[in-house]
Amino acid sequence: LICPKELALLTGKRKIGIMGGTFDPIHIGHLVTAEAVRIEYDLERVLFIPAGHPPHKQGAVVTSPLHRYIMTIMATCSNPSFTVSSMEIERPGPSYTIDTIRTLVEQYGGQTELFFITGADATGDLPTWNNIEDLLDLCHFVGATRPGCISMIDSVIQQFGTKGRQRIHRLTTPELEISSTDIRERVRKGRSIKYIVPEAVEQYIIREGLYRA
Ligand code: ATP
Ligand code: MG
Repeated sequence: LICPKELALLTGKRKIGIMGGTFDPIHIGHLVTAEAVRIEYDLERVLFIPAGHPPHKQGAVVTSPLHRYIMTIMATCSNPSFTVSSMEIERPGPSYTIDTIRTLVEQYGGQTELFFITGADATGDLPTWNNIEDLLDLCHFVGATRPGCISMIDSVIQQFGTKGRQRIHRLTTPELEISSTDIRERVRKGRSIKYIVPEAVEQYIIREGLYRA
């Protein structure tokens, strides 16, 4: 087996990272993870794609796509390797990653390798994703995790056999115990979210009165 880094060097392909999420709100955990994967896999850039209508959060109250999109732009604009796409928030219906990846493959062409970045929890859920077998044919997955969660990613890799070993990779990262759920709760309780989200995002949340009710 050739690791993706070597493969790309041999084939001279472009490599683009994709960070999908609800980003309600985006936080330092997302940013640190995306940057770690970008550096490790030598990605040209990382495209942050806020979900329009997250299929796994149906029934839950999700902040309007526009607020989440604006916060994602604010959080990423200081990194020249990070960009934001509104493709999922502009697409009607549930935001399935398979539709996004098919569109990106069309846009970038077959010469570009796509690396979808996930945290350990999302990697563990991969077997339940819509059209996961097709997804594995179209892009790589990088499960970013702290040492304690390695076995969970390994079991997902095993579950997909050869395709899993070729397409799902794990990267040990200094994972931060931060979640958007916790941030929303902190705001609701009037607790500080300083340094957990970028300053501009913190200011935006205060200004727009998000997560208070
Ligand atoms: P929520 O608590 O609302 O589910 P979240 O913090 O999990 O929010 P999402 O937008 O659901 O954020 O996650 C998008 C992606 O970022 C997922 O792949 C998730 O695993 C990953 N992720 C979230 N938090 C972290 C973190 N602290 N470190 C690394 N990856 C993370
Ligand atoms: Mg989540």
